[in-house]
Amino acid sequence: MSDEVLLELRDVRKWFPVGQSVFDTFMGREPDNVRAVDGVSFGVPHGKVYGLAGESGSGKSTTGRLAVRLLEPTSGQVLFDGNDITMLSKEDMRSHRREMQVIFQDPFASLNPRMTLGEGIAHGLRIHNLTGSRAETRERVMDIMHRVGLTPPGTFYNRYPHQISGGQRQRVVIARALVLQPKFIVADEPIAMTDASVRAVLLDLMIQLKEDFDLTYLFITHDLATAKYICDTIAIMYLGRIVESGPLTQVYTNPQHPYTEALLAAVPVPDPRHRRDKPMPHGEIPNSINPPPGCAFHPRCPKAMDICRVQSPPLEQLDQASQVPPDQGHYTACWLYSDPEG
Ligand code: SF4
Repeated sequence: MSDEVLLELRDVRKWFPVGQSVFDTFMGREPDNVRAVDGVSFGVPHGKVYGLAGESGSGKSTTGRLAVRLLEPTSGQVLFDGNDITMLSKEDMRSHRREMQVIFQDPFASLNPRMTLGEGIAHGLRIHNLTGSRAETRERVMDIMHRVGLTPPGTFYNRYPHQISGGQRQRVVIARALVLQPKFIVADEPIAMTDASVRAVLLDLMIQLKEDFDLTYLFITHDLATAKYICDTIAIMYLGRIVESGPLTQVYTNPQHPYTEALLAAVPVPDPRHRRDKPMPHGEIPNSINPPPGCAFHPRCPKAMDICRVQSPPLEQLDQASQVPPDQGHYTACWLYSDPEG
């Protein structure tokens, strides 16, 4: 089943209405929307790590929440294991909830400070009625603590979140997700709030657990160096849209979109002799209530042309002529590679 798509988003949008003033309502003005995600499509193959990267405000975290239906899409479809889960009732969604888990950025905020680590990990087992006795629950919790490196588990079981390190807290969060035996994990900046010294260790742990538990990840990060370490495929998001995607090595060695080029050029390199001198594109990511017309990146793009200011470029496969299958293709949304007439 290795190449089958486990999770698929089809033209998904998430627009959040912005509060209107009484005057706006009186004047009959349509409410504004924050277009957090604006027509995103991609598939995550079983057993792979699909990365979503971009600056803060790009829509990557909202996309992650839409993928597991922690948020309802404004339009579009989410398919999990071949089933359209977009319209499922809360009751029908319950069985999928267990199979789709999320690891959030801040482990301290994710854990209940009044529960011991053991109770916190066991909580989901109880909610989903996955064990037959207290002894079995404890056994499952001790086993998963061991698997994530909280060893010996007996010394962690009765501790509280404030009594352990940040790296250990993130291991607890990972254990709490994995004890439910999910198929799919959304990892939203899972190492961003941990010490630099433990980041590589946690990424190695996630890679090992992916193999051990046959997992599939949607890995969300603002850091392209982290993405390079763990992702098979990468999609770069800008203002709610994917602007470039493809196999990670392809995108990193041969970036096509000016935004991807700028992001990659800004990744710090350990050797100062090879430091790249291209700065990040000037300016801030624009407001997604009133995105710039045309290509949303044009106010920051050093290669912008006239058409970029009026017409939005489509996301097109660059290696189609080389007969690369669409699901393994390299895509970009940029007028440098598309024909406005075509
Ligand atoms: Fe730059 Fe134009 Fe390409 Fe947008 S479409 S990234 S503005 S060249």
